[in-house]
Amino acid sequence: MARLPATPFASEHRRIVGATLVDGTLADPVADAEVEIADARIVYVGSRRDRDIAGARVIDARGGFLLPGFVDAHVHLVMSTDASVEAQRAWFPEEGVVATLGNLRATVDAGVTTARDLSGLTPGYRAAVARGQIVGPRLHLAIAMLSPTGGHADPVLANGSRPLWAERATTPGWAVVDTEEEVVKTVRALVRTGADVIKVCTSGGMSTPHDEPSDRGLPREHVAVIVREMQARQGQPVTAHAQNDDGARAAVLGGVASIEHGYDLSADTIEAMIERGTVLVPTLSTLLRSPAAGGADGAARRARASESIRSAIAAGVGVALGTDAGIHLQGRNLTELGHLTRAGLTPMEAIHAGTLAGARLLRLASDLGSIETGKLADLVLTSADPLGDVDALGDPASVRLVAQGGVIVKDLDALRDAR
Ligand SMILES: [Zn+2]
Repeated sequence: MARLPATPFASEHRRIVGATLVDGTLADPVADAEVEIADARIVYVGSRRDRDIAGARVIDARGGFLLPGFVDAHVHLVMSTDASVEAQRAWFPEEGVVATLGNLRATVDAGVTTARDLSGLTPGYRAAVARGQIVGPRLHLAIAMLSPTGGHADPVLANGSRPLWAERATTPGWAVVDTEEEVVKTVRALVRTGADVIKVCTSGGMSTPHDEPSDRGLPREHVAVIVREMQARQGQPVTAHAQNDDGARAAVLGGVASIEHGYDLSADTIEAMIERGTVLVPTLSTLLRSPAAGGADGAARRARASESIRSAIAAGVGVALGTDAGIHLQGRNLTELGHLTRAGLTPMEAIHAGTLAGARLLRLASDLGSIETGKLADLVLTSADPLGDVDALGDPASVRLVAQGGVIVKDLDALRDAR
């Protein structure tokens, strides 16, 4: 079913000792904890043991907080936020690749060891990360997103040309489907190309030429066809960009695993999500970026969206962390944690949304998402207290160390080896 993450390097035998452990499962924190890593996996987790373990290097993590590697369930790693669209349009292809490599590195540096790219990124990056040729989060890819002609996945302008932001599309990042036959053919082609997840747009959105967030997108029948098709494949989950309630309901009743954005959910739709276990990925970092896009209309939409997400959380809808990085700043993924707490989660629940809940949504929870014996050692050590000041985690400087499958990929303190 799920694609198991490869671990390209043999990791060292290590013990990380003395930190306060927050394991991602919602369990109470453990002060003065120890995590032992061997062969990429966690072989011990619990209170610090007061004895030597032969062959294990000790990392003194006193004063820090040890968390699972985070999962960002909604990113766009080919979209760079540190250069203007006009500047990017003038880039040579290799400048685009280099910028994407920078985005991958910045995402890991932010504490995210697994990311789900919901259109734009190609499988070559996923393979290069898995081989250890480049540093980046473990990747699940949608490759493209699906909408009807003139919908959220259709960048073509009325005169037939593409807007600036679609110029750099290097993949079938856009998949326009109008009939059931086109839907089936397109998702089969995406699976052939290596899609881990299928992304559909059941509503319109911002920034595409012909649609508005209030527009309908793919109908429920097409969503259901895709869900059935994926059940007959490797069981890839289907997720829906849904910014209005009709679109969200079409997606939920069609059988998607998750709703992206969910900016206008009615009580009925929220109830249907709870009944079916549909997860919400609220992308608050993008919603709440300042200034609000779209003037007074934008401000009203933002208020309604915040209320929608708060209602869903209060009703008990499951949440996974997703930022829409690429629209939101790259490398600032954990700012979402603070937004989630202001939408109603406790800091502990926000961390769970960003770790184990995300891993479950990606169907990787047997290997990732929590600090438990037997799982891959994807770990983050922070200087900031995630339960006392969750907003501080949004600053990558507070993420002192990141390990992926036991391999240390970021270390601001040069290991602080105890010997
Ligand atoms: Zn997105």
